[in-house]
Amino acid sequence: MIDNFKHQGAREKMIDLLRKKNIASEQVLLAMKQVPRQFFIDSVFEKYAYDDKAFSIGEGQTISQPSTVAIQSTLLDVVQGDKILEVGTGSGYQAHVLHKLGAKVFSVERQKILFKKTRILLNSLGSSVQTFYGDGYAGLPQHAPFDKIIVTCGAPVIPATLVAQLKTGGIMVIPLGHPQQVMTRIIRKNENDVDITAHGNFHFVPMLGKKSV
Ligand code: SAH
Repeated sequence: MIDNFKHQGAREKMIDLLRKKNIASEQVLLAMKQVPRQFFIDSVFEKYAYDDKAFSIGEGQTISQPSTVAIQSTLLDVVQGDKILEVGTGSGYQAHVLHKLGAKVFSVERQKILFKKTRILLNSLGSSVQTFYGDGYAGLPQHAPFDKIIVTCGAPVIPATLVAQLKTGGIMVIPLGHPQQVMTRIIRKNENDVDITAHGNFHFVPMLGKKSV
């Protein structure tokens, strides 16, 4: 895997573009600057790696576009050492950005082929992200509670199981709705109350139930 001056230059440009859009914290931009996006996509798309676009990663799934990664990561308000659950590992790009932000990431993927491929990639990058093959609707009870939860596929409703795995004061960022999603931020205030805010419209692949083989 190569990350040369050309890639680094294109990455700088992408970061500048995101900075101009005023959608991300400097901390998030710094993390994204450290992650070669070309490693996470098929080599046929390499020259477009720093376009603000989503690309196919196989199995009918996509890597999120950089501005979406920037927005979701900023809404999560990541603090060094945060324990974060990600639903939808996909290419591993978003998870690796969260790792660069100093989080301890647990990421679940329901597509076996993607799960296997991405686990190998993240290991080869020396990422601390722990990956799991499973249904994100169930979360990861064995590792709960989490400081933050990020869902990177479009969910029809707020999954109660995931809210239950958030610490008090914890934040969940989840795209909600069909066919378009509203980026939604949920803060768990206490045992029974949540604060819910909306942060714009997006298009995600759907959050599906059960594992696929
Ligand atoms: N975070 C990813 C985005 C991948 S697209 C990235 O940066 O590349 C969303 C992913 O969610 C897909 O890989 C899809 O297979 C997965 N997904 C959909 N429903 C799921 C579920 N119930 N549990 C876990 N993963 C799911």
